[in-house]
Amino acid sequence: MDRRSMLSILAAGTAVALTGCQRAQGEPAAAEAPAAPEAVAPAAVDPPLLPPPPGGPKTPIPPATITALPGPGSSMALTVDDGASSEVVGAYIKFAKDTGARFTFFVTGYYPAWIDHRAELRPLVESGQIQVANHTWDHADLTSLSDIDVADELSRCKLFLKNTFGVTGAPFYRPPFGRHNARVDRVAADLGYRVPVMWYGSLSDSGLITEQYLIECAHKYFNPQTIVIGHANFAPVTRCYGQLVDIIRERNLALVTLDDVLTVA
Ligand SMILES: [Zn+2]
Repeated sequence: MDRRSMLSILAAGTAVALTGCQRAQGEPAAAEAPAAPEAVAPAAVDPPLLPPPPGGPKTPIPPATITALPGPGSSMALTVDDGASSEVVGAYIKFAKDTGARFTFFVTGYYPAWIDHRAELRPLVESGQIQVANHTWDHADLTSLSDIDVADELSRCKLFLKNTFGVTGAPFYRPPFGRHNARVDRVAADLGYRVPVMWYGSLSDSGLITEQYLIECAHKYFNPQTIVIGHANFAPVTRCYGQLVDIIRERNLALVTLDDVLTVA
């Protein structure tokens, strides 16, 4: 099959998936009781397209850098950084509401997107479906800053998260550009951010890429027990959600937040 045919099929699957007509795997058909003929059907609340987190005890981890979810399992932590585009943050929120997707936003505090969407995000944060964590105030390379300035970058974002969403995101933080070192981690730990979160694979969308390339990256990196990084910066990902759902379902992955599965020992 050539790539064009494959993409058409994926797109077709996507169209079906986004209508919410497909039943989640293992969901009993009996859940759909027939409605009275004259009844005006309210907006359908289908089972979420994506399964809930696995449950069970959280995995204890030491206060140190992580690049994957430890232990066996079929979870995947999709982490979404920055928030340079308010539209893309909004699309991710809709994606979560439409599909039950669970993920972690690494918030760069100074982008207006986070205030723009505060009202929609806060209940999702409170329910645990979306986690927010610290990605600094304005995306500085922390390794280039003095200890005081590193602390300032993380503290400003910490205060912003607390004021905006009622949580600090600790113990998880993500250093911008993935750049950190022992000194930066020590300053971060003093503020409660004891776990630098790196990643196993990337959707490669910190800059503008094609939808086709983004999907190739998802095929490559959406695997069990991985941490994958994406960005709320450019529009292409917002046109790929259906295909991302298809890949996640085909591979029987459960999207989880970091708090769903990890606890610091
Ligand atoms: Zn970033």
